[in-house]
Amino acid sequence: MALQGAFREHQIMLAGLGVSSAQVRKPADLHNIDALIIPGGESTTISILLADYELFDRIGLLVEKGLPVLGTCAGTILLAKEIEDSTLPSLGLMDLKVRRNAFGRQVDSFEEDLPIPVLGEEPFRAVFIRAPQITGAGQDVEVLARYNSKIVMVRQNKMLAATFHPELTADQRLHKYFLELLKAS
Ligand code: GLN
Repeated sequence: MALQGAFREHQIMLAGLGVSSAQVRKPADLHNIDALIIPGGESTTISILLADYELFDRIGLLVEKGLPVLGTCAGTILLAKEIEDSTLPSLGLMDLKVRRNAFGRQVDSFEEDLPIPVLGEEPFRAVFIRAPQITGAGQDVEVLARYNSKIVMVRQNKMLAATFHPELTADQRLHKYFLELLKAS
């Protein structure tokens, strides 16, 4: 999804894994994709553009048919069913409640070596930039990582969401894990 935010970094990561990618901005761009990444950026802006380009319903239909989706940071906000204290329209595809900018101003950006068991033993360097917190997750949601007991990475069927930016490090494991979900589908 190339409406706004860190989509190029995801494309570079995918290219490093030998996977070609296309930029999605309008409904026709959705025709030939096998999976969708919704990047970090500014969820307000992305939400407005999703509405302008009439992408909300179309993406929802594709996900219902099994399109794998990865959301990072703002992308996680847009995937969530509920955004706390907000009327921002979201895709509402994951059974999550999120709180925007939840780590507070003074520490609004930080990095942390996170244990993420599904990615292997080595901790994953997670870059949090004005990150949201996942404050609620439904029964079908598998919690994959926490930071200070807060949920920061989840999976629901073929949808994966992280509140940090895996595309900003050289570590390919999270993208590889997403590609595994894709291959399994
Ligand atoms: N704070 C942003 C928002 O609420 C998310 C930040 C990010 O994606 N790095 O949309």
